[in-house]
Amino acid sequence: MNSVARFGVGMQLGPQGLLWTATNMRGGILGRKRTPETPPHDPKLMVARVAHEYKAFLAALRLPDSASAGLALVGPGPIDQTDGSFKSTQTPETWSRFDMAKPLIAELEIPVRVENDANSAALGEFWSRQISRARTFACIYMNLGIGAGVVVDGALYRGASSNATELGHISLDPTGVSCFCGNHGCVERYAAPDAILGQAHQNEELKEQLAAAAGTLDTMGQFDYLARLAVRGNDTAATLIDVSATRLTHAALTLTNLFDLDHIVLAGPGFAVAGATFVSRLRSQLVASAFARHSHTITVELSSNPRDSAAIGAAALMLQSSVSPHRGTSKP
Ligand SMILES: [Zn+2]
Repeated sequence: MNSVARFGVGMQLGPQGLLWTATNMRGGILGRKRTPETPPHDPKLMVARVAHEYKAFLAALRLPDSASAGLALVGPGPIDQTDGSFKSTQTPETWSRFDMAKPLIAELEIPVRVENDANSAALGEFWSRQISRARTFACIYMNLGIGAGVVVDGALYRGASSNATELGHISLDPTGVSCFCGNHGCVERYAAPDAILGQAHQNEELKEQLAAAAGTLDTMGQFDYLARLAVRGNDTAATLIDVSATRLTHAALTLTNLFDLDHIVLAGPGFAVAGATFVSRLRSQLVASAFARHSHTITVELSSNPRDSAAIGAAALMLQSSVSPHRGTSKP
């Protein structure tokens, strides 16, 4: 890590466009900017856009290039850190064989890396909360998809290719619906916003409400609207949010038992409105069913900034390599 670095920059690719953040060494947020335009399919045009927006973001914040610890690009997994590419079904297929990091390193002359959003949120939450390395920590992340990042002994558990702890693809039913990942019955197919909105549209009353109030919104906007209905006392909406929470909790229990977790944070736009319902459901389940419940307590909390947690974590990621030793091909 550059010893004179004073800030890191994170850029999150999400269904709402690009979200930029900069944080300082204490985890303080120096700036935030959202550019809602859909990213271009041509990866070279995307690199040009990222480079342009990075420079404009620093200029607007009056941050000197020379004090940057680097840029982390985060998005839904899978990602490939060996070739700097995004391979998600949520990002253009044309990006899947293109190294996003390399041309940005050359143009911006800073370290650049790619990371998946759940891992990034996990590192950001672990760092900003100053969680002890003695804790076995997980961040459960929900946006369009569901993922998780696990921190063991102060380091992110990456697996063979930095695609570990794919919580959304724990199967609840091996004979269930097929999933793009190749498995069947994945929790993401039953608990993620798309799945819950699909159920909401089967209820005539909710379908009309969503069409009237949220019809022009994207999936996450519609899910926010449904969650607001639930929080305000609409029983049908509340039941659907609880369905999501219950299904997610089943998978989270498996993750907890696999890693013997003792601290969990829920982060991501999917928890922005009704996160308390998910926290409550998960706490109850873990108290009743966690394998090690008689050995230790398990803390479950909601991120203080669920919508921005992955982007904030991305910026923090560039500042704290000592906390998250990088495996795989290193970027400069
Ligand atoms: Zn799956």
